[in-house]
Amino acid sequence: MYNPARVKISPELPIPEQMRAWVLGGPDELFLRDKPTPVPGRAEVLVRIDAVAICATDLEIIHAGSPAHIQGGLPFNKNFTPGHEYMGAIAALGPDVDEFAIGERVTVEIHAGCGQCKRCRQGMYTACLNYGKPEKGHRANGFTTDGGFAEYAVNHINTLVRVPDTMSDPEATLVVTAGTSMYGLTELGGLVAGESVVVIGPGPIGLLAVAVAKALGASPVILTGTRNKRLAIGQELGADRVVNINDEDAVGIVRQLTGGIGADYVIECAGTEATINQAIHMTNRGGKICLAAFPHDPVTTDIAHLIRNNIYVYGIRGEGRSATHRAMELMAEKRFDATRIHTHTFPFADLPTALRYARERVEDAIKVVVTNEQASAIASAAE
Ligand SMILES: [Zn+2]
Ligand SMILES: [Zn+2]
Repeated sequence: MYNPARVKISPELPIPEQMRAWVLGGPDELFLRDKPTPVPGRAEVLVRIDAVAICATDLEIIHAGSPAHIQGGLPFNKNFTPGHEYMGAIAALGPDVDEFAIGERVTVEIHAGCGQCKRCRQGMYTACLNYGKPEKGHRANGFTTDGGFAEYAVNHINTLVRVPDTMSDPEATLVVTAGTSMYGLTELGGLVAGESVVVIGPGPIGLLAVAVAKALGASPVILTGTRNKRLAIGQELGADRVVNINDEDAVGIVRQLTGGIGADYVIECAGTEATINQAIHMTNRGGKICLAAFPHDPVTTDIAHLIRNNIYVYGIRGEGRSATHRAMELMAEKRFDATRIHTHTFPFADLPTALRYARERVEDAIKVVVTNEQASAIASAAE
């Protein structure tokens, strides 16, 4: 059995020496394999993964490699385990960890910065200057270090968020998505109640940006997109007005709803040239734009309009400044129902089906969650 030196375990949560894990072969190849259960170091714990949500970034990493894989090249054929939006129970404590107890339910942030560079010291650990250097203490589980499509993963204690008993496992996997939306608003300078917010693009981050902005008192909150079903979910999550940009002029409507001047904040979650230009023209003078989606190609924009109007543009990455903790507070208080974006659930062994549902948006899938109960069943049957 698993019993590494100086690691605290409990007889109530026995841990196997080998775990089941999905590993990346070549592009678009995943295999279910046995892998040694990882060992937590100083300030780290071992998390038994109970549920993991699939993110569009997982699909990209499985197809083309991690954009963040700076050292050691692409993660193909290196026994790498993707997956980063997971939750579970603490199964083992690294040396001297007393901040958490075995058995506690936790959900996770992706990034543990090195803790020593200038950006980490500013709370911007998702933009750590030692990104991709585990020897410096940096981890980005599912990007540069092993992630959550497995029975267990190692997490730095700074990446853990406690899950209240009233919250289900699938809902807890959505905290990192809500945390990313929260980080966008934080980087814009924090939301002041009564300010107007436009969210462009009703993907998971956009939909939860609507929910978080509304919970923080934004008014009005306007959501733009092209799919009416998703816009309707945005309305349930708090959008005061939704705009289908195929049918209506988004810039004109935003101006009309803001006394002719445009919105204070625009959060761009679509990443196309057309929507980025809409963002620029619907922001008011002195307003702020948060770019939260990655355009695949260089984009031509009206930079002179930004300068003439003193508009601020922010690029955000991930979920820094403990935004995940603040998102969890709102979700724990039921200020919004994040589960509106959770559409499908599959067992761990069916991960390929779950990925297909997410990739092809089968049955209008938004967030597809994989639960790990089956993994324990498979493991005990094999013993
Ligand atoms: Zn993600
Ligand atoms: Zn750092």
